[in-house]
Amino acid sequence: MGWDFETDPEFQKELDWMDDFVREEIEPLDFIIKSPYDVNDPVRNEIIRPLQKIVQERELWACHLGPDLGGPGYGQVKLALMNEILGRARCASTIFGTQAPDTGNSEILAHFGTEGQKKQFLEPLLRNEIVSCYSMTEPQGGADPKVFKTIAVEDGDEWVINGEKWFSSNARYSAFLIVMLVTDPENPPYQQQSTFLVPTDTPGVEIIRNVGVGEEEEGSHAYIRYTDVRVPKENLLGPRGGGFVVAQTRLGGGRIHHAMRTSGRVQRIFDMMCERAISRTTQGELLSKKQMVQEMIADSWLEMEMFRLLVLRTAWRIDRYQDYKKVRKDISAVKAAMPGVYRNIASRALQIHGSLGVSGEMPFSKEVIESFHMGLADGPTEVHKVQVARRVLDDYVPCDDLFPTMHLPKRKAAALEKYGDVLERHMQTQ
Ligand SMILES: Cc1cc2nc3c(=O)[nH]c(=O)nc-3n(C[C@H](O)[C@H](O)[C@H](O)COP(=O)(O)OP(=O)(O)OC[C@H]3O[C@@H](n4cnc5c(N)ncnc54)[C@H](O)[C@@H]3O)c2cc1C
Repeated sequence: MGWDFETDPEFQKELDWMDDFVREEIEPLDFIIKSPYDVNDPVRNEIIRPLQKIVQERELWACHLGPDLGGPGYGQVKLALMNEILGRARCASTIFGTQAPDTGNSEILAHFGTEGQKKQFLEPLLRNEIVSCYSMTEPQGGADPKVFKTIAVEDGDEWVINGEKWFSSNARYSAFLIVMLVTDPENPPYQQQSTFLVPTDTPGVEIIRNVGVGEEEEGSHAYIRYTDVRVPKENLLGPRGGGFVVAQTRLGGGRIHHAMRTSGRVQRIFDMMCERAISRTTQGELLSKKQMVQEMIADSWLEMEMFRLLVLRTAWRIDRYQDYKKVRKDISAVKAAMPGVYRNIASRALQIHGSLGVSGEMPFSKEVIESFHMGLADGPTEVHKVQVARRVLDDYVPCDDLFPTMHLPKRKAAALEKYGDVLERHMQTQ
């Protein structure tokens, strides 16, 4: 038997250290550093580099990676507990070497990269000397990658890329882009695209604009045009026509890591909600005495704990099976549950704070928008729900009778056939 909800005491010490470190050193940076991804920002570097060193010395750097890539290889359950803490602050993942999308990008480089690609792209990425971007979504569609049109054509020893990509996060800070491109349009739909490594400063890569989220006028999600962009043949990452396989390898880990951080973020919002409920008085009593506020607190706690358990169970299954294919249903379930839990709790926290809650002086309106980010990036909620339903239904067999297997008259007849003689004997003796 192996059911256990406790953290081992040695690892708990590390979590306690992280908890203090994030609160004292990292949370204030949300007000100081414009973007943790801007490796050319001197303010960022002056503050973040020494903090990264402390994390490295404590052997907590890049904990999503195994020892072969310089991480401790703690596994996903421990990573989940760590990411809950890191989810509280914008710069925390970068300081611990676990920031998306570099984590997923490093995973595919490690998995599919040649020795040369690893040297040029993966090694400096793992040291956070550079950052990367995953450029897949196109303006005409994201949820259905079969509509992508951006193309790579062979020309001698090079590939020539033309087309447009949309919402390529952090392209403006990146040293290279991982781009999904149509190479074999005559192949079956899921074998038409391939993945390429494109240095961001390659001639022909043009950021049309950096789209913001919510009310941001300028953000970090690039609308990119690729015009006659030439990359050498060896910049193909993974097999030709294998773009979807590469993307799936990347997205499994990315989705669960987002969920782990969201658990921590939601807990932080919940804490704010509770503090307000026991501090603010209206009509002569605390908000926490009002039953409808109590309902909001109870519903939020229930949703948060159910979500957290689902995340931890999924992490445990990843560790157990070491195969993302075996846990696709679980990861899709976590991904589908995440935005709703996040949005509900952020909205209730906003409501309990009244006018202050809706104002820019509290983080709730940004958190509500962020919950939509979690429902879109790495695939919309609807698509993941479809995945869950399909995989759940795979475990069932159809009933070939007109009435269902559990139809009560049928079950009663079967029960009578099994035990009817007992009933009959007792009826005769009465
Ligand atoms: C903050 C943020 C960061 C992102 N970062 C990146 C990035 O770095 N790189 C990258 O390539 N992309 C990125 N994306 C893009 C993301 O992957 C897409 O937004 C997502 O795949 C949906 O594509 P779309 O926006 O074109 O919406 P569409 O494909 O137009 O879908 C719109 C809506 O239609 C509905 N829908 C879609 N499919 C179905 C279905 N099968 N069944 C029922 N309803 C459906 C859903 O409600 C969906 O939200 C990012 C997005 C956000 C919001």
